[in-house]
Amino acid sequence: MKKYKIAVIKGDGIGPEIVDEAIKVLDAVSVNTDCEFVYKEYLMGGIAYDITGDPLPEETVEGCKNADAVLFGAIGGEKWDNLPRDKRPESGLLRLRKALALYANFRPVKVYDELLDASTLKSEVIEGVDLLVMRELTGGIYFGQPREKGNESAFNTMVYTKDEIIRIAKMAFEAAQKRRQKVCSVDKANVLEVSQLWRETVEEVATGYPDVTLSHMYVDNAAMQLVRDPKQFDVILTGNIFGDILSDEASMISGSIGLLPSASVGGVVGLYEPIHGSAPDIAGQGIANPIATIASASMMLRFALAEEKAADKIDKAIDQLLKEGYRTKDISSYGANEVCSTTEVGSIIADYVSK
Ligand code: NAD
Repeated sequence: MKKYKIAVIKGDGIGPEIVDEAIKVLDAVSVNTDCEFVYKEYLMGGIAYDITGDPLPEETVEGCKNADAVLFGAIGGEKWDNLPRDKRPESGLLRLRKALALYANFRPVKVYDELLDASTLKSEVIEGVDLLVMRELTGGIYFGQPREKGNESAFNTMVYTKDEIIRIAKMAFEAAQKRRQKVCSVDKANVLEVSQLWRETVEEVATGYPDVTLSHMYVDNAAMQLVRDPKQFDVILTGNIFGDILSDEASMISGSIGLLPSASVGGVVGLYEPIHGSAPDIAGQGIANPIATIASASMMLRFALAEEKAADKIDKAIDQLLKEGYRTKDISSYGANEVCSTTEVGSIIADYVSK
């Protein structure tokens, strides 16, 4: 029996509800496989601030560093919005990403056939979309120095070193090798020097991956192409701020923010989390869609633990649930046979997985 140590951060809002369902599914996975999961819970976000005065207590960082992987729900909420920047829930997450050196964010976007109508885009545009946004996570304008807020002017600085570009580009080319062998690098090289270095460096890295086709696109065009013809993309490689914006845009192709998982990797331990936030507007009502978090647990099995078969089981169980028409409220207008609660969806997926 293989025993894996999973650091669990439930966070705020719907975080605890959706993470509990992912754990239920992981426990079901262990019934028919030789993996066992040992969970240890840690605090981060608003709840951590309330209890310890710090949105990222040191114990959480240490616990995550000593785990095989981190499963995370979401953080944040209005209650903490007026705190100073370093006390806000989001700063806890930014600091954890830095502490774990998580420089690569994988956001796969897949369209489920049963939910074609859930997207605001026409079904013929999105049918069969299967793309991956690879966002650089620890550099760029969000972290660049100097930065300053004055009363009459303010500035931030967009910085990338060559090494930072090389490591994320390699990650994208390696991901493309396992997919459809295409990388589209997105930048703003017609205006920004930092993007010119980005483009030159990605070109250099590409020479090491002759089986992968590289193309470049300016970010404004990429934003347009994503809604015009998303099927043209396989792996989209981009920096921190462009990736932040494009990955949210890409997520809407699939119809609900409650469906999409993500993985942040690069350091010793990876962080697996849904792409959405803590959804305070629906917290505690039992209606949150747990699929994004359950699919994040599947990414964790695949990426961190190399448990491909177990991950396949979860992915198939999600497909089956949607095929059979079980839906949480957010997607209940699209082919629902039965509208289910958060826990019911978790239990049905767990049941399929354990068979
Ligand atoms: P959000 O993603 O929490 O919610 C946006 C909308 O999507 C809401 O109407 C919400 O009800 C809905 N939604 C989100 N997840 C859902 C799910 N699983 N099932 C059904 N519906 C779902 O974004 P927001 O409202 O802008 O932010 C709320 C809080 O979350 C803020 O404090 C924000 O800072 C924080 N946030 C945290 C993360 C994170 O933890 N990684 C990411 C984004 C936002």
